[in-house]
Amino acid sequence: MMIRCHWHLDSGSECVLCSQNSLETSDHLFLDCPFAKCCWDFCRISWQSGNSMSDIFMKAKNDFEGPNFLEVAICAAWNIWKERNGFIFEGKRPSFTSWKVKFLGDLQLTCYRLKKEKVTRLKFWFPGLI
Ligand SMILES: [Zn+2]
Repeated sequence: MMIRCHWHLDSGSECVLCSQNSLETSDHLFLDCPFAKCCWDFCRISWQSGNSMSDIFMKAKNDFEGPNFLEVAICAAWNIWKERNGFIFEGKRPSFTSWKVKFLGDLQLTCYRLKKEKVTRLKFWFPGLI
């Protein structure tokens, strides 16, 4: 429930992850922000426009050639959110390197509940996983 409490985005606030002076909407933060785009590029997930969020999600899932789209997308989005919160609540400068370390760490933990062949595919997709 803590997550939901912090999920609310203040209308009128600017995105802290990029220098575009863009309004921090959820679309900007997770899809259009150059910072987020770097993260999605690293995952090789591409978001296209669509009629609804589920449409956008299904298109990205279908285009994704790697394993475990859902786990990868959740870990990526969660850590984009954490980079944003790190700046807002602790003054930590957001960085792709910091995102990547946290993202791979969370994905590493996810591996414990995946079947061995899925883990092998994930490690191939993300050579940074141990
Ligand atoms: Zn931004």
